[in-house]
Amino acid sequence: MKRIKIGKLEIISLLDGFIKLDGGAMFGVIPKPLWTRLTPSDERNRITIAMRPLLIIHPDANILIDTGIGNKYDEKFADIYGVDRKPGIENDIKKSGFTPEDIDIVINTHLHFDHAGGNTIKRGNEIFLTFPNATYIVQKLEWEIALNPDPRSKASYIKENFMPVKESGKLKIIDGEMEILSGVKCIKTGGHTEGHQIVVIDSDNNGALYWGDLMPTIAHLKTPYIMGYDIFPLDVMREKEKYIKLVQEKNYISFFEHDPLVCCGYIAGEGKKIHIQRME
Ligand SMILES: [Zn+2]
Repeated sequence: MKRIKIGKLEIISLLDGFIKLDGGAMFGVIPKPLWTRLTPSDERNRITIAMRPLLIIHPDANILIDTGIGNKYDEKFADIYGVDRKPGIENDIKKSGFTPEDIDIVINTHLHFDHAGGNTIKRGNEIFLTFPNATYIVQKLEWEIALNPDPRSKASYIKENFMPVKESGKLKIIDGEMEILSGVKCIKTGGHTEGHQIVVIDSDNNGALYWGDLMPTIAHLKTPYIMGYDIFPLDVMREKEKYIKLVQEKNYISFFEHDPLVCCGYIAGEGKKIHIQRME
């Protein structure tokens, strides 16, 4: 678990666990001989990805970005996605010195199950909000699409991950760019989903960018290395290039939500020489 000071804020990279997704789907049109150099696949052609929510300790609130996959899946789902959730995000929150009740704000980059699954938790046969005192922030377009997904995205939106949030009155819909608290900004990028957002953190001239699924792993650094899941691939490439420029200009730390090994680092170089500088 990495803890990093950013100006007045402290940032803690959490781990909810790992899942396996089809390697081809994770790299779109990139041929397998190329992507397997970066990330190996198993006998079912799946690659392992992590789920790394981010905890921001802000003087005014504790903010959690994304919530992992949660605990509501059955055996079939666990087999398809190779779910390895030991011990899950709640444990990392406790190890950081907090409890789920201490979370004031949850930001969902989008509502796919590997990002919003931990919004709610199953105890016995009942579903509760995992973070009962939190306001959950979602982009307007993401909310609308989650309620009415296209046939290709349908399997990614599971209603019990987000409907209980709405029903409890804890949902806060935002539209476009918004500063949630001083130094913590949600920015809608679209691309992966139409309502996908990233989070930019800036405090006392230090900063970080949480990429969400705009750059899920460090193997997705180069422009055409994008996911087959992306709804608008050209938007993903354009937005990725735009925010690579930003993190380089401002010397921001990048947080990679799905990288199996690397939670964060600096993006250095450009063109063919672009690479990740890991942090100690
Ligand atoms: Zn994802």
